Amino acid sequence: MGNIDTLPSYELYIGGQSVAPRSGEHFPSYNPFTGQPWAMISQADADDVAQAIDTARKTFDTTWKSTTGYERAKLLFRLADIVEASAERMGRLETTDNGKIIRETTSQMVFLARMFRFYGGYADKIWGKVIPLDRTDVFDYASMEPLGVIGIITAWNSPMALLGNKLAAALAAGNCVVVKPSEHASVTTLEFCRFIEQAGFPPGVFNVVTGDARTGQALASAEGLDKISFTGSGVAGRAIASAAGHTLTPVILELGGKSPNIIFADADLNKAIVGAFAGIFSATGQTCVAGSRLLVQRPIYEQVVSGLAARAGKVRLGNPLDQSTEMGTAANQPQFDRIMGFIESAKSEGATLVTGGGRATGGELDQGLFVQPTIFQDVRNEMKLAQEEIFGPVLAVIPFDTEEEAIAIGNDTKFGLASGIWTKDINRMHRVSRALRTGMVWVNTYRAVAAQIPFGGVKDSGYGRERGHEGLLEFLTTKNVMINFSDVERDPFAIQT
Ligand code: NAD
Repeated sequence: MGNIDTLPSYELYIGGQSVAPRSGEHFPSYNPFTGQPWAMISQADADDVAQAIDTARKTFDTTWKSTTGYERAKLLFRLADIVEASAERMGRLETTDNGKIIRETTSQMVFLARMFRFYGGYADKIWGKVIPLDRTDVFDYASMEPLGVIGIITAWNSPMALLGNKLAAALAAGNCVVVKPSEHASVTTLEFCRFIEQAGFPPGVFNVVTGDARTGQALASAEGLDKISFTGSGVAGRAIASAAGHTLTPVILELGGKSPNIIFADADLNKAIVGAFAGIFSATGQTCVAGSRLLVQRPIYEQVVSGLAARAGKVRLGNPLDQSTEMGTAANQPQFDRIMGFIESAKSEGATLVTGGGRATGGELDQGLFVQPTIFQDVRNEMKLAQEEIFGPVLAVIPFDTEEEAIAIGNDTKFGLASGIWTKDINRMHRVSRALRTGMVWVNTYRAVAAQIPFGGVKDSGYGRERGHEGLLEFLTTKNVMINFSDVERDPFAIQT
């Protein structure tokens, strides 16, 4: 184990300053490829969290709420340029922190810049409406206003991308934020504070409190937030929503999934196999929209399974910082243990293991948290393997005969985040998209994202939306103003005739 006294140490970021946590406590963040600690992160307590919220509130009240949309747009565009110019460095940092391959983390940073530009474009186009009433001597308008102070809590799988989904819209709308990244991957969020400064945001608009679930819970139960936007597990989501319920703070929840990716016999099979493969094994399966349940129509079932198995056998596992690596590590030890536990329970449930099924070892893999790309076939939808989110490179393949059966299996889950359909039949595309109860449906593609399109789920996958116009509306409130400009005095107690 490396000497933790010599590791870079990060403090909290409040009011534009590095602030030591009151507890004086720091904990190590581990590189899942080397197994070594590589940075020290501060553990914030409830007082630190309260200070950050108070600072954000004062900043909002005294300066930030009076900025014009155009000023905010310019800041967001500058931020986008800085992020883009640092994409490679930030990609390396994130890869070191969570084991996601460098190609993905770098392109996520480029996408982050896209998010800041997308919402920067909105910042000076946020306007309300004039509402004509039944009287001509009254003028009524409804304006769109920022909420105030937003609490943001994120997961470890894509810290900057998850932050960007929330932050870009929150800042464009004119809010201040207090961010709590995952204790397993906080470094990029802390490095990002410098970009906020370089772009010229006033101190106090963007604040970061780091720490484990206790810090998250302190933020979720704190007074003084106007909204909380959370990405993470259903367990934490429930705890946050119930804590926020006590202060009547509204919440956005971006939670997990067990998304059905459905291949019909008439699909372009080559494309469908590549799409299904990337749908589960990209990001080492550690993505909320992973197509973790693959439903395949029986006439093409064997062909699809053998195509996937052949490709899985060739996946290049290795150093996530290497450009040629195709699959990185599990992001941290608890997640690795969780994936292994699910693989073992799938074996005992009676699913047929096609390929993988254990830790990947050999050479440089021995030191890291590598999982073999794993495929189980002949899975029944009631198995734990098909019902629980694994959040790892484990695919459950389920056969089906008819379209109705595919829809029924697809919807037979507590989750409702995403789904995929592979078919050439245009009528089926529309029928099945309409029938699936998920927030997002991909047809003849999978896991494709864009700044413009709303992202989010239904059922246990959460509520609220990120990205797109809907993502902006989450951080605005409507104020109605009615102005009576009549010269006539009206007695409200007079009986109307
Ligand atoms: P997690 O819920 O354990 O942690 C997420 C964040 O919440 C962390 O910052 C953590 O410290 C904090 N937290 C944990 N318990 C808390 C509590 N009781 N109160 C307040 N804060 C608490 O999730 P994770 O393991 O970091 O991430 C994996 C999960 O995230 C998966 O379920 C995955 O599907 C989900 N996810 C969802 C999306 C989406 O957009 N829908 C995207 C990525 C990840």
